[in-house]
Amino acid sequence: TEETLVLVKPDGVARGLTGAILARIEAKGYSLVDIRLVEPDRETLERHYAEHEGKPFYEPLLDFMMSGPSVAIRLAGNRVIEGFRSLAGTTDPTTAAPGTIRGDLGRDWGLKVQQNLVHGSDSPESAARELDIWF
Ligand code: ATP
Repeated sequence: TEETLVLVKPDGVARGLTGAILARIEAKGYSLVDIRLVEPDRETLERHYAEHEGKPFYEPLLDFMMSGPSVAIRLAGNRVIEGFRSLAGTTDPTTAAPGTIRGDLGRDWGLKVQQNLVHGSDSPESAARELDIWF
C-alpha cells in the first residue's frame, strides 16, 4: 500500500466542501491515516511549493493558501498517489472532467486557477517529502 498527502485547500474548507470531498475519498476505499486542520505559515508553504518559486502564480498561490485553514490528510491505499490525482481531476476546474472533485465541485475562477479545492502529491518522492512537511 502507498501513502499520499491530500490537502483540502482554503476554498474547499471555506465553501463547506470538506465533508463532500472526504465522502468521495472514503467511497473510493482509501484509508484516512491522519487528518488535521492546518493554518500554514509562509515558510511551510515555501517548502511545499518550492518547485514553483519564481513562477507568475507563485506569490498569489501562497497568499491564497494563507487566506484560511486547510485540511491536511495522510491518505493510504493501493496506488493512491495516481488514484487520488485521477479523482481530483485536472488542475484547472474550468475544464476538469465531470465525475472528478474539481470537475463537479470546482468553480470557474477565470484566471485564478490556484483555487482548485484540493492538492494531491504527484509522485512517491513528492508524497514522502510533503507528508514530512505537513505531519
Ligand atoms: P496538476 O499537477 O494536475 O496540474 P497540481 O495541483 O499538482 O495539479 P501544480 O502544477 O503542482 O498543480 O501547481 C500547484 C498549484 O498551483 C495548483 O494546484 C494551482 O493551485 C496552482 N497553479 C498551477 N498552475 C497555475 C496557473 N497557471 N495559474 C494559477 N495557479 C496555478
